[in-house]
Amino acid sequence: MTRLLYREDPYLLEFDARVVERRQHEGRPAVVLDQTAFYAESGGQPWDTGLIDDVPVVAVVHHGDAIVHVLERTIDADSIHGRVDEARRRDHRQQHHGQHLLSRALEDTAKARTASFHLGETVSTIDVAAELSTDAVRIGERRANEVIWAGRPVSIRTVTRDEAVALGVRVPDEAGESVRIIEAEGFDRQACGGTHPRNTSEVGVVVVLGHERHKGGTRIRFVCGDRAIAAFHQRQAFVDEASAVLSSAPESLAEAARRLREAAAEADRRWRALLERALEADGARLASGASAGDPPLVVAALDGHAPADLRTLAGHVVGQRSCVALLGSRHEGRAHLVFARTPGRTEDVVALLKIALAMLGGRGGGRGDLAQGGGDLVDRLDDALAAAGEAATAGSEAARAAAPGAPRG
Ligand SMILES: [Zn+2]
Repeated sequence: MTRLLYREDPYLLEFDARVVERRQHEGRPAVVLDQTAFYAESGGQPWDTGLIDDVPVVAVVHHGDAIVHVLERTIDADSIHGRVDEARRRDHRQQHHGQHLLSRALEDTAKARTASFHLGETVSTIDVAAELSTDAVRIGERRANEVIWAGRPVSIRTVTRDEAVALGVRVPDEAGESVRIIEAEGFDRQACGGTHPRNTSEVGVVVVLGHERHKGGTRIRFVCGDRAIAAFHQRQAFVDEASAVLSSAPESLAEAARRLREAAAEADRRWRALLERALEADGARLASGASAGDPPLVVAALDGHAPADLRTLAGHVVGQRSCVALLGSRHEGRAHLVFARTPGRTEDVVALLKIALAMLGGRGGGRGDLAQGGGDLVDRLDDALAAAGEAATAGSEAARAAAPGAPRG
């Protein structure tokens, strides 16, 4: 069994040890030591990093009974010197102890018991088994900060399971017979194997960034200490940038954004009304230029019309007079087609669309008075429309030839 030096002194950063085993861990070299100050991931707290001699420690994990130090490369020495990354260790002390205080505060003020804890890369979370209001979360946060600012001593001791229970500590089943207790004097006792400060003041501050419903309870996102300052600076940078873009003081940002949205929505309404009028006028113009034959044909290749606008335009064309409209548009790198006929006519616009689509390498369909589709071969749009136009005229002539008694032209 490795002696866990961090359990005795969470401030210990340097230590000497002997290598008792070398192994591979997920394809990387690793060592087991006779003693270590490196915290191995557990209980929601990530592992420490640092150096063993001059080799970076990339992970520290429990594997069976062993603490496995995963290394960037192999080390040959039997006696090593370990150095734990100080900033990361302090950060973890702040976040983990802040969690203990926040959990206790929420249990005291809102009867919300913590079900789980995760110390994240930038933000940590606790899940509590109660639905909490924003006010309830704020009251708990305030209580935790009062304890931080009161600078209460934090002690570590190891007791038997029975003693722990007698002290009112919730002891997890996997804790075994000896239980390590972290106590913030006069406020909180918890069974825990993590790294904690000597005094609550080291946490600095706990700030709840947000909370949301989660599995019938509440997930609370929070930061402590240095991370609270980093989170504030990050949010300030967001606010400053938004203020500059909207030319607005920070306190007026929401109002400025609301006005901008309203203005955009109004502009959109006016733009759509103008577009509708333009499509109507274009439809009338195209219909007046329909071919004199049978059927009267309107064939047009346009630029920039989205499929929905092309459909609207086709509706206007075939609404103006009895005709067949074969409309195409080059839009966002694709060729779009809308073929329509005036209701009551019998030309097969779906068959005409298929002729054009075959040339555009595309897909589409329709029925009755309307067919639509598109393809990628934009350069062939004019040819595809011409082919569909010829087929429409030829189809009409074939129909007349099949019915000799019918009048011509
Ligand atoms: Zn803990």
